[in-house]
Amino acid sequence: MILVEEAEKIILSESQDYGIEEVLLEKAMGRILAEDINADRDLPPYDRVTMDGIALNYDAYKRGVRTYNVIGVQAAGDFPIEIKNPNECIEIMTGAALPSSVDTVVRYEDVIIENGTAKIIIDNVRIGQSIHLQGVDKKQQDVIVTADKLVDPVLISVAASAGKSKLFVKKLPTVLIVSTGNELVNVDVIPNPYEIRRSNDFMLNAALKPFHIDADMLHIGDDTELIKDSLKMSLDKYDVIILNGGISMGKFDHIPEVLAELSVQMLFHKVKQRPGKPFWFGKHTRGAKVFAFPGNPVSAFMCFNRYFIPWLNSSLGINDSPINAILNEDIGFDAPLQYFLQVKVKMSNIGELIAIPIEGNGSGDFSNLLLCDAFMELPMERNNFIKGEVYRIWPFTQCFLNNINNS
Ligand code: AMP
Ligand code: MG
Repeated sequence: MILVEEAEKIILSESQDYGIEEVLLEKAMGRILAEDINADRDLPPYDRVTMDGIALNYDAYKRGVRTYNVIGVQAAGDFPIEIKNPNECIEIMTGAALPSSVDTVVRYEDVIIENGTAKIIIDNVRIGQSIHLQGVDKKQQDVIVTADKLVDPVLISVAASAGKSKLFVKKLPTVLIVSTGNELVNVDVIPNPYEIRRSNDFMLNAALKPFHIDADMLHIGDDTELIKDSLKMSLDKYDVIILNGGISMGKFDHIPEVLAELSVQMLFHKVKQRPGKPFWFGKHTRGAKVFAFPGNPVSAFMCFNRYFIPWLNSSLGINDSPINAILNEDIGFDAPLQYFLQVKVKMSNIGELIAIPIEGNGSGDFSNLLLCDAFMELPMERNNFIKGEVYRIWPFTQCFLNNINNS
């Protein structure tokens, strides 16, 4: 049995780069950018008018000219209209390219326009006002976004403005989720009194969606030969196999022996943690990684969040920084194991993350997870954890973003 830190180190050392692929901009949301994006033009690409109003030459205004002949109306997207005389102006709209013969924009609110003449009614016009100058944000060829960033709506808009209709992003590993167990039936079946519906595999499948991984799912009974046949093919087909159940001490927990027969090298079996002690991890000779999680739902979900997501992030080149929270109650835990406490996370009114323990009824009680947002990792060396102490959390909801009160 190994320590949580050792298990983490072994798993992270098996991180793998799965290469890159080009996807349509509309499909890139949530992926990891695999290229730098350069500005193909200055940003903004021309002196951009930022107010609807009139455009004039500031020299004339400085000399005291307050009324101007309106010689034309220039909408956004129009070819610039030039004035020929300092007492002329152009009615101009937000987004238009400033003509080279003018240098200042006065908004409609500060002007009266009558019979083709614009009269300025304020005295504090500044040269160059209401103009977003060409290239002040970025110069042509500047790197505007660097690789390894998560593609979000803002990045998409910047890429679109730079003419990128496709983006190179990191390729995702292909994943198969396998559930095992004779007691498990399909979701649409009414179970016998001694059976339950499969649920972990749907949970793990859903948890992969934010990463844009569409995992395949497979259920196999506790039959060694069947498990062996199915896994044999799958080990060649998928980059990652996530197994569920069948790795404990039970008479029908066949997974470790089957994996050994299929040339999957065991890198560890059992971690000093609760929940999730029976966790098994290994790799196939041809590269597939095998995460075999215990069947208990809370254990499986904890292992997924504590080990699989960091492995995936590391494989995609994402550095995720730890998130800590303040424990809100005294907690005792005597076993010589690293305890992953289920907590609800709230933001205090001074911006601290507060972790409220909601322990539930053990690793089979997945309905308790509905009340929680994260696992709080409590160090193995201690048995008592005091209100006010700060520990790392592994969030599994968007608790910090949407502030939804799910209690
Ligand atoms: P095992 O690790 O196979 O001994 O399973 C431990 C517990 O987890 C048992 O009560 C199983 O019924 C349950 N379990 C295993 N796999 C699943 C699954 N895919 N969905 C829901 N419960 C599961
Ligand atoms: Mg089982």
